[in-house]
Amino acid sequence: MKTKIAVAKGDGIGPEIMAAVLRIFDAANVQLEYEYVEMGKSYFDAGHSTGMTAAAKETIERLGLLFKGPMETPKGKGVKSINVTARKVWNTYANQRDFRSLNGVDTVFSKAGIPINLTIVRENIEDTYGGIEHLLTSDVAVGRRIITRPGSAQVIRYAFEMARRKGYTKLACGHKANIMKLTDGLFLETFQEIAKEYPDIESSDIIVDDLCMKLVSRPEMFQAIVLTNLQGDIVSDLCAGLVGGLGFAPSANIGDNISIFEAVHGTAPDIAGRGVANPTALLLSGILMLRYLGATTAAASIENALLYTLEQGIHTGDFGDRSTPSADTNTFADAIIANLGQLPQKGVVIAQPDFEVKANHDHPLKNKLTVSTNVQEEMVGVDVFVESKAQPTELAELAKRKSTDNFQLVMISNRGTQVWPTGSIFTELVNEYRMRFEKKDGTTITQKEILHIAADLSEDFKVCSVEFLMKFDGKIGYTLAQGQ
Ligand code: NAD
Repeated sequence: MKTKIAVAKGDGIGPEIMAAVLRIFDAANVQLEYEYVEMGKSYFDAGHSTGMTAAAKETIERLGLLFKGPMETPKGKGVKSINVTARKVWNTYANQRDFRSLNGVDTVFSKAGIPINLTIVRENIEDTYGGIEHLLTSDVAVGRRIITRPGSAQVIRYAFEMARRKGYTKLACGHKANIMKLTDGLFLETFQEIAKEYPDIESSDIIVDDLCMKLVSRPEMFQAIVLTNLQGDIVSDLCAGLVGGLGFAPSANIGDNISIFEAVHGTAPDIAGRGVANPTALLLSGILMLRYLGATTAAASIENALLYTLEQGIHTGDFGDRSTPSADTNTFADAIIANLGQLPQKGVVIAQPDFEVKANHDHPLKNKLTVSTNVQEEMVGVDVFVESKAQPTELAELAKRKSTDNFQLVMISNRGTQVWPTGSIFTELVNEYRMRFEKKDGTTITQKEILHIAADLSEDFKVCSVEFLMKFDGKIGYTLAQGQ
């Protein structure tokens, strides 16, 4: 019986490369049936604010699997990226991108005889991709970076399981916990906790800037790396560069119920409609999808035909030997079809599952909610962010008047650097300050009292935002200002 999947052709080069890939699938006798869904730029233009029709949403949620071409999000209309929204709404929490050297695709590493074979697992829902941003004064914009324990645990556990399935012996966690102590700190702490459950996989952590340097100088050091969303986004494009560019970068967005397979590149508007786009990245994403569905024999056969074709020097305009004529999208696909059954000289692929095969996905009746229980919380103060053009000492005089029997002003910072009670005259200021009030020893405070402080301050300042200061199981849940 054929497996039904949802297919969205996408915008720009999307329809051209999708047609080529599905033609290769058909020639390889892949047992899939396609339900085409309406998603992308023209659906935004037609007034669907999410970029997809209600029928498309229903089909994808029913089938649990979407194979998609790249899509364009209209700029300047205030709508959110359809690609990011799809990943977030359906909780495809793990973005897996496999990078390996391909025959016929010359890179500095292939020329040096250094093979690359590594996988990046990027958290796909959280971080700055919530897009929760505010302009607090006309000069100061802030974005919220959300890192959660359940969200981190989900993707980190996925990465360990994937490493095991692929026969990897090690997994690294990339982070910037030395600077982002609470957000990346939580991600790293979760990694170290979960690592204990996988003693067969050597776990290590590495600061993301050092990781980038090592990836370009000694990529063979790594087998798999798990990262938070934004850092993972950047590092995975770096890895795409190691193996020849975005034209060779597949991606799988894996969730417990719905998964999305797509190429990493975009709609390539500069070459759209000319029939010259490289379908390799989408084909490699399709091969990942076949493995996910358990069609490992078809996946291996198509991948071997692709490698054989690349070995023959057949190439589209974006890569390969420029002294030989390039093939257009269809000719390139025809060559792969003609080579089905052939084996490459280097790197023959064997039929092996890369994914935990899911025969069915769940149809939950309510949203899943995960909470860590039994944590003792204590409220200890508040950071009130205000707009002001005053100097720190003037500001402190005004703010100190708002101190009560329970609260005292302990610190003022500007862009995260302490400017009162001590600071440097050389610290440059912008018109948004943070005033930190903490409760006095031995007192208990309520949220209502804290909000009163903000309300009192609003008589003298524009209050931009308020953050509560908490302790969890006795550990402080906020960072100190630089210099505090
Ligand atoms: P892009 O990836 O579309 O193009 C960058 C460059 O790479 C261009 O020169 C393009 O011609 C080339 N290129 C990309 N894919 C190629 C292929 N398969 N064959 C040959 N050359 C290829 O990036 P961009 O120009 O920044 O973005 C264009 C649009 O795509 C934007 O609207 C963006 O939002 C969207 N986008 C969508 C996705 C997605 O659907 N997942 C991802 C990235 C960008």
